[in-house]
Amino acid sequence: MEKLVSPKITKEIVERFGFKFSKSLGQNFLIDENILCKIVDGAEVSKEDGVIEIGPGIGTLTQFLAERAGKVVAVEIDKKLIPILGETLKDEANVELIHQDVLKTDLHKLVEEKFSGQSVKVIANLPYYVTTPIIMKFLEEKVPVSTIVVMIQKEVADRMQAKPGTKDYGSLSVAVQYYCDPKIITKVPRSVFIPQPNVESTVIRLSVLKEPKVKVKDEDLMFDMVRAAFGKRRKTLLNALTSSGLGFEKEDIKEILKKSNIDEARRGETLSIEEFAELADCAYPYRH
Ligand code: SAM
Repeated sequence: MEKLVSPKITKEIVERFGFKFSKSLGQNFLIDENILCKIVDGAEVSKEDGVIEIGPGIGTLTQFLAERAGKVVAVEIDKKLIPILGETLKDEANVELIHQDVLKTDLHKLVEEKFSGQSVKVIANLPYYVTTPIIMKFLEEKVPVSTIVVMIQKEVADRMQAKPGTKDYGSLSVAVQYYCDPKIITKVPRSVFIPQPNVESTVIRLSVLKEPKVKVKDEDLMFDMVRAAFGKRRKTLLNALTSSGLGFEKEDIKEILKKSNIDEARRGETLSIEEFAELADCAYPYRH
């Protein structure tokens, strides 16, 4: 099978199979070899690696991954794409296709069954309507993958790597940076997709940390406090945490902030992950 990555071949395949793009499934297919190379190079894929690809589409990125990786497992939700992939990937002996919704997939079982002991990377041009749930599923479920390299909406990538005190810093920044070291690889123009999406895109690499960035007694409590702090961005921490439904009395919050050495007049958006962890550890006895 010839390489798909050209507007001409992509259009040909789409027409031959009478395929209709589904906006609601985030179907924007890549047609630029340069970007595909940047994704695969950014993930430093080698024959030692196993790769999980989410949403292979018609198999454009999959073909590139198959050439470089030891094994590729591609998870695609759209049954109309399965016969197309059957043809476009027929020569790729190291690719396995799973017809499934990745959000409903048991990812631990998938890694265990398909990649025995191999280092596993997640590489994808993600459907933008579910970018964050997909990435957070891998991270929160602590699926054993070393690297996640994904094309996502530019604004989401900016939030993932934002630092405290900046306008993009929020609960997504804290959640991602708790588990990973994020690095933006490249910005991507709309013109490299068929059909063109109505947002800008970015390729980001999330290098998953061996241990989360900070030690905290109760992760759920920390993330509840993070969400509360950012839920009312313009309020002081004291007010945001008091009115957030966390269930703490105002006096308790005052004491917790004092014990954590965090000024009650600060805003959540200025706190580092280390400070959120300290805050949650000081709040822990009030919850348990
Ligand atoms: N990888 C192809 C490419 O780069 O040309 C297609 C990428 S397209 C942005 C996203 C793909 O994800 C589509 O093929 C879509 O059908 C698939 N998809 C959407 N939601 C999904 C889900 N929940 N689980 C698995 N695949 C999904």
